[in-house]
Amino acid sequence: AGIQTNGVGPRKRAQMDPEQRKKRLAEAQRLKPQREALPVYAGREAILRGIRENDTVVVLAETGSGKTTQIPQFLIRSDIPRASPRVVCTQPRRVAAISLAQRVAAETGCVLGTTVGYTVRFDDRSSPKTRLKYATDGTLLAEMLSDRDLDAYDVVVLDEAHERSLRTDMLMGFLKDIQKRRKAKFAEFKAKGKQVANGNAGDDDDAQTKQPREPSELKIVVMSATIDAKRFSEFFDSAPVLYVSGRQHKVTIKYVDEPQDDYVDASIKTIVQIHQHYPPGSILVFLPGQDEIEGMVASLRAYLPDIEKNLAKKGQITIAPLFAKLPAAEQAKAFVPAGPNERKVIIATNIAETSVTIPGVRFVIDSGMAKEKRYHAGTGIDSLATEPISQSSAKQRAGRAGRESDGWCFRLYTETAYQHMEKRSQPEIQRVSLSFALLHLKAAGQEDVYNFSYMDAPSVTSIQGALHRLHGLGALGEKSRITPLGRQMAQLPLDPIFSRVLLEAFRQGCPREVIDLVSLLGVKDQLIINTSATREQANEARQKFTHRSGDHLFLINILRAYEELDGTDEKKAWCKDNYISYKAMQLALDSRKQLRERAERLDLGDWEDTLNDEPEPIIASLVAGLFANAATKQPDDSYRNMMTKQVVTIHPSSTVFSKKPLGIIYDELALTTKTYARGVSIVDPRLLPRQAPGVFNALRKQL
Ligand code: ADP
Ligand code: MG
Repeated sequence: AGIQTNGVGPRKRAQMDPEQRKKRLAEAQRLKPQREALPVYAGREAILRGIRENDTVVVLAETGSGKTTQIPQFLIRSDIPRASPRVVCTQPRRVAAISLAQRVAAETGCVLGTTVGYTVRFDDRSSPKTRLKYATDGTLLAEMLSDRDLDAYDVVVLDEAHERSLRTDMLMGFLKDIQKRRKAKFAEFKAKGKQVANGNAGDDDDAQTKQPREPSELKIVVMSATIDAKRFSEFFDSAPVLYVSGRQHKVTIKYVDEPQDDYVDASIKTIVQIHQHYPPGSILVFLPGQDEIEGMVASLRAYLPDIEKNLAKKGQITIAPLFAKLPAAEQAKAFVPAGPNERKVIIATNIAETSVTIPGVRFVIDSGMAKEKRYHAGTGIDSLATEPISQSSAKQRAGRAGRESDGWCFRLYTETAYQHMEKRSQPEIQRVSLSFALLHLKAAGQEDVYNFSYMDAPSVTSIQGALHRLHGLGALGEKSRITPLGRQMAQLPLDPIFSRVLLEAFRQGCPREVIDLVSLLGVKDQLIINTSATREQANEARQKFTHRSGDHLFLINILRAYEELDGTDEKKAWCKDNYISYKAMQLALDSRKQLRERAERLDLGDWEDTLNDEPEPIIASLVAGLFANAATKQPDDSYRNMMTKQVVTIHPSSTVFSKKPLGIIYDELALTTKTYARGVSIVDPRLLPRQAPGVFNALRKQL
């Protein structure tokens, strides 16, 4: 209580400090010529005119043209569709939303969170003054639950539309109706002549925005980086397509003669060849996922001394990995331009395909694979599977090599394989579990989920499956109407399964533990550091956290021990000793804070309620959501899912691995060489029907 701030927070201070302000403006000035050189800048007038004259436009331009950073800035400085318009720009990826907001705040010379801000799940850097907000598509969907017509915005920019993420597709469906309703509201307002409150100023405490904003029509801008814009135009009643010609240079494509079974090895050989025989320039390697990238970074590091010894005069090779879960500071290294005698090798997932631009790339090595979320009807959950990309993705990847000058793309697959690839990637809505989507549609007032304006409708069986699961979770009741429980679930920023787990915890009297657990599960892939070199020491160090009931209580124990510590240094040292990621722990604590706040705002009960050392209520809460992931031991010691009868194997990394309990539930199914259950807790199979009666009764009826 000794700190005097005079009610001025650190952000406000940064904003008012004249020195800092000067610095910011100088930086904005420095970036200006770069911005003005972007292809989109030349098309500024035409783009603004298009948006002014039409309800919806589709903007098509190559990655790196300036769509995402510039077009929203043009708009906030325009009077479209009204003076001082408010703009939201959606991104499928959280990382992209944050880094773009940072970049654009720097370009406009403002403090992040003032005029330019962002909102992503568990992190809000925006204020009532914010005029341009970068948000994940999921966040904007969530805003619709309290602002049905998105009255808070005058323009919605749907970015990366070509990716066809589940949530962007849902937004497109909703926006069509929203635009119509906004038009009607605006017409009514004009007819009546002013003074129609639209109530969007809600909790604005800012003098400037105290007045309720007058209704406006809603402008929609759909932005895409692939030529496939016709579909968007058709979907939005023949909206015009604005093409911005980029500066794409020639890219020479090379295929392998024989199919390669080890693309990490093939990539390294290709890198050596490029380094030996081709001109300078950075190399961008596309691998499917984090595991492959980390594996390749390790192998390449091991080879480097040899390569450099033999090719000393060719310059130094440096390596930068890039994937969504990499900490921001590490990601930033991929964007630093290479030095004069340096060849950079950036090893990335498809995050580098369209959503971010890496300078200096002249060579692309394409493994032809990507990790795709895919729904397994048998197991009822989404998992990531490594799959061949589409021709459209392959073209995008190749295009990355021709941004600044002529380039080369080395495809680690044969030309025949290319010809057999799908033309386009399947939209996510046709690949993943629809329980989140359908619950959201219901909560947003779309009762008939079969006849929503889908750009590509999911199959009837997958809609039925999702409705069935939502019934099991208690989110839907008679006639598939949303229940009060379902409404609460829809307002939590979690998968319906974990919303249900959390709500059950309030009934079971253990919300504190379960909020902790759900926050930890959000980072669990990064939290526990497991490399093959340190596995044994790590497991030994973490032995003390194991819990008789399994992996979930094990995670809670880790957090408990962490909270006993004082001071950052001590915490960091402890993390190191126990092979736990300090950064992941910070992220989990952030989400916990947000979840606690959300629980308070939704009036779910007192999250501080806690039960000491009793695992049963926690396990019962997990069962309420994860009931479909229960398995029992068979006479031959294998496990079978109780509902689907599928055989699952407890993953060796689980603390339950060697225990062979009678019954388990798991939070994840990983399909690699076997069907592995990960995140496993022990349950008493006889108690399951009591813990999830609705489901097991329904199951009994079916049998
Ligand atoms: P598009 O959306 O068309 O792909 P962007 O607006 O994202 O293009 O990027 C335009 C240019 O702005 C890029 O080519 C790059 O030079 C620059 N840029 C974008 N984001 C950043 C960043 N975070 N740091 C540095 N430069 C950036
Ligand atoms: Mg972009």
